[in-house]
Formats: sequence, structure tokens, C-alpha cells
Amino acid sequence: MITTKMMTYTLPVLPYPADALEPVISAETLANHHGKHFAAYVNNLNRLVSGSEYVGLLVEEIVREAPDGPIYNNAGQVMNHRLYFEQFIPASQYKAPGQRLINAINYHFGSMEIFKQQMTEAAMSLFGSGWVWLAIDTEGRLQIVKEMGGGNPWRRGMTPLLGIDCWEHSWYLDYAFDKAAHYDALWSIVNWDVIEGRLPM
Ligand code: MN
Repeated sequence: MITTKMMTYTLPVLPYPADALEPVISAETLANHHGKHFAAYVNNLNRLVSGSEYVGLLVEEIVREAPDGPIYNNAGQVMNHRLYFEQFIPASQYKAPGQRLINAINYHFGSMEIFKQQMTEAAMSLFGSGWVWLAIDTEGRLQIVKEMGGGNPWRRGMTPLLGIDCWEHSWYLDYAFDKAAHYDALWSIVNWDVIEGRLPM
């Protein structure tokens, strides 16, 4: 008898319409990034995990425990893209960060402007494909962390708060060679309520 394995990991539905982030992220980029790239990571992870020792684990557990390799890479990208797509809001609905987050950012970086500048600089200086994260460590310190490939600071015990996708697929169609413009524009669609909700209690 042939049994069909349940597909454990699923592609989350976007929390906004596909054109909602224009012009920062075009509907075409969003459709490709979410519907093609993210979907491929989900499908790859299901295929790789099926029949392995990782069956039944949360993506977060795989990111913590799996050795470097395809399972870890795809689990990382599933975790990363979940965080990425859920952290945006249409620019028309943008709200400034709450006081708790502003205080933490001021304390660790000096000001919101310095923080944004350092995130953008980290993204601009990342060579190759990867991510830049605002993360918080177990001592409650905010840090800007550069990760190659599908990396996430979660792997080293930190909690990711805000992620910049530095793979070309996230910006190239809309910005061609001007990725700095893309990174700058992202600040106008960050959903700070979501970011603040990721802070540990
Ligand atoms: Mn991506």
C-alpha cells in the first residue's frame, strides 16, 4: 500500500494583497518572491525532511539542530521568509515604532536614524546572498547580525526581530543596480507592531 505523506510545512498566506507594498516592492516581485522562491524553499524542505530524522520537527528546531547542508539551508529560508513577509505593512498604514522598541534601539544604537543607517550599511556590505537581522540575545542586547545564505541568528541562540533579505531576488526586478534605494525604501513599510511583538517578554 502506498501512503501519502502529509505535507508538514506550508506556504503562509500573505497578510496583505500582492500589490499592497508598491512601489517599495512591486506586485511582480512579491508574486515571484513569495509564490516562487518561498514556495520552492517550502517544497524543498518537505521533500528533504520526508523520511529523515527531522520529520515532525518545527522549522525553528531544524534551524537550531540540523548540521550545515540542504535541510538546514531550506529550513533557514522557510523561517527567514515567514519572518520577512509578515513584518511589512502598506506604506499608507505605516505607524512609528512604539516606545518600548524606540527605547531599546536608542539605548543600543544611539538613535533610530543611526540604527537604520547601520542596518543599511550591513546590507550593502554583505558580499553575496544572505540576510541582515536585528536580533536580541539572551542578555537582552540588540545586535545587527549579518548572515550568509539562509542563515538566521536563531541558530546561535538569538531571537530575530527584523530581517533584510539581501538575495537579489528580493530587489533586482524593481531596483536593478540601485539596491541602496531598495534598502532605504523598506523602512517605509516596516510593521513595527510585528517587530515589537517579537521581543521576548
Ligand atoms: Mn528571499
